Amino acid sequence: MNVKQIMTAVLAGVLSVSLLAGCGNKEKQADKSQPLRVATNATFVPFEFKDNDQSEDYKGFEVELMKAVAKEMGRDIQFNNIPFSGIIPIIQQGDMDIAVAGMTVTPERAAKVRFAAPFYESKLVILTPKTSGINSVDDLQGKQIAVQLGTTGAKYAEEKGLAIKQFDNNSEIIMELGVGGSPAGILDKPVADYFLTQEGKDNYKVIEIPDTKSEYLAFAMNKNNEELQKEVNAAMAKLKENGEFQKLYKKWFNTEMPNLPATTEEIVK
Ligand code: GLN
Repeated sequence: MNVKQIMTAVLAGVLSVSLLAGCGNKEKQADKSQPLRVATNATFVPFEFKDNDQSEDYKGFEVELMKAVAKEMGRDIQFNNIPFSGIIPIIQQGDMDIAVAGMTVTPERAAKVRFAAPFYESKLVILTPKTSGINSVDDLQGKQIAVQLGTTGAKYAEEKGLAIKQFDNNSEIIMELGVGGSPAGILDKPVADYFLTQEGKDNYKVIEIPDTKSEYLAFAMNKNNEELQKEVNAAMAKLKENGEFQKLYKKWFNTEMPNLPATTEEIVK
């Protein structure tokens, strides 16, 4: 074989492997006897977390909601823990079926993935030690702010022109503040609030950010998988109807569930 023939053969091999992989993914997506492949980043307490890295016991509001939805759908589920910034690509590739990751619905993301009905209305906040001297967004200028790569918090900090230090996991933002690496972090309000009820109780404070809008969090799926979106939305509607959704909300956030839109399409227009 000459070089050209070798290149052709190699390319053909690569092509058939990727085609096969593509088929495999689609078949898996359609085969309902297979567990739903869930992509998560289990460091977003109290939505999804584990007691330690080795544990396979996924906990949290969103985890329990996903389990209830899957039960309603008659499907098994399998959780996979990956960095938050890898979740949209893996859903787009069809290598995972659904993202359970506290993901904010944004128009940019809605162009890439399909969202289920929102399960939470969130907002960005600043988390900082009580002694940091930081009391507002303006105080963040000139300081290094801890954020999680690929999140709305990271995007907000970039747009504000803040110096940022990025982490793969939300838990690392909190550790960074603990060791004094950065004086503040930007993250989702329910996660910061929860931290203040736990280890953060005595030494941390949460500061609201006035120029941010509220954000809706929702499960994300492949753009082509409208059938899964319909099934998930139907299951969520059922769980609202029978009160199980509200019960989970109350259990994890200790407050009544607010009215949430029945579909994401009502939010992203
Ligand atoms: N809600 C934020 C986002 O979607 C953060 C999510 C997370 O850290 N898991 O960007």
